[in-house]
Amino acid sequence: MLRRLRQRHGTDPVTHVERVPPRDGLPARWPDWAPEELRLAYRRRGVASPWRHQVEAAGLAYHRRHVVVATGTASGKSLAYQLPALATLLADPRATVLYLAPTKALAADQLRAVAALEVEGVRPACYDGDTPRAEREWIRRHARFVLTNPDMLHHGVLPGHAQWSGFLRRLVYVVVDECHVYRGVFGSHVAHVLRRLRRQCARYGRADGPTFVLASATSGDPAAAAGRLTGLPVAAITEDTSPRAGVTFALWEPPLLAPDRSAAAPECGPVDGPIAEPDVTQVRRSALRETADLLADTVAAGVRTLAFVRSRRGAEVVATSARRSLDEAVPGLGGRVAAYRAGYLREERRELERALLHGDLLGLASTNALELGVDLIGLDAVLICGYPGTRASLWQQAGRAGRAGREALAVLVARDDPLDTYLVHHPEAVFGAPVEATVLDPANGYVLGPQLACAAAEAPLTTADLELFGAGAKEAVEALVQAGALRQRPTGWYWRHRERPEVDLRGAGGAPVCVVEAATGRLLGTVDGGSSHFLLHAGAVYLHQGVSYVVDSLDLADGCALVHPQEPDWSTHARDVTSLSVVSVRSYVDAGPVGMFLGEVDVTSQVVSYQRRRIATGEVIDTRPLDLPARELRTVAVWFTISPQSLATAGVDPADVPGALHAAEHAAIGLLPLVATSDRWDIGGLSTAVHPDTEAPTVFVYDGHPGGAGFAERAYGMAAAWLRATRVAVAECCCEAGCPSCVQSPKCGNGNNPLSKSGAIRVLDVVLSNLPEGQGQAGVAGQA
Ligand SMILES: [Zn+2]
Ligand SMILES: [Zn+2]
Repeated sequence: MLRRLRQRHGTDPVTHVERVPPRDGLPARWPDWAPEELRLAYRRRGVASPWRHQVEAAGLAYHRRHVVVATGTASGKSLAYQLPALATLLADPRATVLYLAPTKALAADQLRAVAALEVEGVRPACYDGDTPRAEREWIRRHARFVLTNPDMLHHGVLPGHAQWSGFLRRLVYVVVDECHVYRGVFGSHVAHVLRRLRRQCARYGRADGPTFVLASATSGDPAAAAGRLTGLPVAAITEDTSPRAGVTFALWEPPLLAPDRSAAAPECGPVDGPIAEPDVTQVRRSALRETADLLADTVAAGVRTLAFVRSRRGAEVVATSARRSLDEAVPGLGGRVAAYRAGYLREERRELERALLHGDLLGLASTNALELGVDLIGLDAVLICGYPGTRASLWQQAGRAGRAGREALAVLVARDDPLDTYLVHHPEAVFGAPVEATVLDPANGYVLGPQLACAAAEAPLTTADLELFGAGAKEAVEALVQAGALRQRPTGWYWRHRERPEVDLRGAGGAPVCVVEAATGRLLGTVDGGSSHFLLHAGAVYLHQGVSYVVDSLDLADGCALVHPQEPDWSTHARDVTSLSVVSVRSYVDAGPVGMFLGEVDVTSQVVSYQRRRIATGEVIDTRPLDLPARELRTVAVWFTISPQSLATAGVDPADVPGALHAAEHAAIGLLPLVATSDRWDIGGLSTAVHPDTEAPTVFVYDGHPGGAGFAERAYGMAAAWLRATRVAVAECCCEAGCPSCVQSPKCGNGNNPLSKSGAIRVLDVVLSNLPEGQGQAGVAGQA
């Protein structure tokens, strides 16, 4: 199949083919402690014997060690926690188990799996926002295996802990499924929700506390990440001993286009909004178009294929475009391709999954592997449109391919950005040992304070509790007292208000802004507060499900933008002015002419104008001013300084310094996901030839979330590896003066101006030749 696909262009788009060989499973004996009844239940479900990694993880958990299983998709992670949990429920008729999934769909799948085992007396039940009131009380009193999600634990279970006291007192296991999803600000919140859970268990008499069993996709150092998430020492099982079908994994770089700009859009991105047009003539064919064509080709060949696309709009575009070309070839064939995304009703999703498994559907374009049913594996081909941001997600998506005894195909189609381009030319970063770590920072004061307020509202905080919440808890509590939220009494800190604190676990960047069609009042969608100034300013072109709208007005007080449908022949590009001041330095490396720093910064940014550009030519029509308020962000940044002399010695012309720094900044932000599980949209940057606080040429890279989310720390710790990969990505790009694959950024508030590609390479060389190797020795880029 691959041979056929790669002949579609004049040049071969495949940069690497990795053959992932089939693997025989390593079966193991059922552990002695597993009761006969359970073994029989699994045999009835077709599990004759477990795999070795399942038995190892289950054994640790059964003996009350906290454990994380970090193995591939479909490696049977659920048996590793079900076995000890169900064995304990059978042996102790009072014991209870709590299971947490990041999505309702996954919890519902797990409920079906546990219920299908038909183990006497387990009484599994889902408890989420959809659970009818009438059932909730029964669940609290009688269910012994409760499946829920962190949001429900935070908003429902913990505030109502008294009603759950019996359940919490008898809680033996807490299962945290797909735990690599808990990263960044969301992950930091969830870490404290788990600490609040541990506190309530202890208050109701479980002095030793429940045992945590976590399941993770493969990642760098899963034990450390699980430890940060739970606040407990966690052992890791990482060797996958389940059998696997062979997969041919191709890395695919769409060919360069002739300089015809109209063919370049749209590009897939994480937001459903207008996409910046690159400022260049040299552009690659879009990953979306390429994926749509590949999907049409595989479907035409009768190959059952799943295509993963990052944005909703992208998934719709891929499905629509594949359908159209199939119908042109064979009328009616297009009907065997569909789009699938979060937001569809569960029944609709199950119907699509069924149709694909039975072959009625041959192609499906989907937004997210986690939303898919657990049974949807064993497909013939998986297409991945753009690197999904983490290796965990990449393998989770690729892992949907492969039926026993049949070779499957996986293709990663690169988008035109520095990270994707780097990856398709550096297969060792995709197929070698993972280095990217799941990043979270429970000590972030913007997370810790609100979480301590929630904890205090649940029950007064004691000095002993502060230790549970970790570094910074004492200061955070004092700040809450100062702010009048808590009152200190001899017995502890008390929440002073009648209402509970309002804390959103996913909250960052302000309240979402609603997009409303003015003529009809119809709500089209929402845009997070942080992006609204960029995407929804008056005059902005806003895309929604393939339809183009123009914004009439943005009302920030109401959190609402009014739009009307219009298809102009221009696109809009907001520009912002950002300034940054250093508040404090936490850590630094003095490397002669180069300094590397980690610290707190204040970032002020203001969207001041937007450009209108012709879609067909990229020509700038005009620049229009905007009157939007400035926004402030206190966050954590990593930055490096270089002495002007060393830049001059390296051959950077003084006039070229701003462009060199700016280009290095863009590329460095683009490559950061290689070492931390960030998204380029989680990160901001600023570069300047002289910064007033550092008095030197400086490049700042900062967390886009108040208080930071751990990305800057990780970048600082891995600086040498991170910047070496950045240098390689820029130097190896085949463009002449910079392109979206290397130094241009779709997010640049400055219209990608000035940029100097050759200067960026020199800047990075100066930094790397001075930086001690210890600053991130274990990098993937080490071989480069
Ligand atoms: Zn380039
Ligand atoms: Zn920029």
